[in-house]
Amino acid sequence: MIKTDKKISLQSYAFRLRKLLVSGCSLDHLLIQHQHHQKVLAEYTPFIKPEKLSYGDRFAWKFMREINILSTGFLNNSTPGTEAETNGQAKGIYQDLSSVVDKVRTIWFPEMETPPNTVWLKHFSTRKLAHYAKKRDEIAFSLVFDSPDTPPEIMSYLAYHELLHRQVGVKEVNGRRYHHTGEFKSKEQLFPNWRDIESQISAFIYTTL
Ligand SMILES: [Zn+2]
Repeated sequence: MIKTDKKISLQSYAFRLRKLLVSGCSLDHLLIQHQHHQKVLAEYTPFIKPEKLSYGDRFAWKFMREINILSTGFLNNSTPGTEAETNGQAKGIYQDLSSVVDKVRTIWFPEMETPPNTVWLKHFSTRKLAHYAKKRDEIAFSLVFDSPDTPPEIMSYLAYHELLHRQVGVKEVNGRRYHHTGEFKSKEQLFPNWRDIESQISAFIYTTL
């Protein structure tokens, strides 16, 4: 249960709320949570000035405002012991990472036979937007993108970028490791409208209130 406590940061409140919802709740629990969340929103709203928040906190605040606990269908996608347990991390509140990554893999990387793992990062990070971890064979996305209004082309472009890391690998020269090599960049720019999408990403990150 999340405590109503103004000392808790927006990001940790939002993160805890999110975790609770994706891990599956009973209807009773959702109803209690909903009431509690409405109360928290009412308490926070008068003193929060979105334009004064850090970029990460803006996304946490956006999440808190847009989450509608009673209408997001958590009971359907999170029956304990079924799909939710294996895929619970990739399934967001609004965006399903594994299906985004899989679509992009099928279209752009048909030779890649198996899908990577997909997971949401634990932060509303506006610096680390997405990354690929070779050891875990895992693509991770920042929570800022688990939103109903994330443009689909941004999701696809980020998935493409990370799948490209998976395909191209790291180049080592004199002990230094290079991820974004010339080869990487020229392949990255094969993605349709990549330039537009890059500016869309900046707009999405820096103009969200
Ligand atoms: Zn990269």
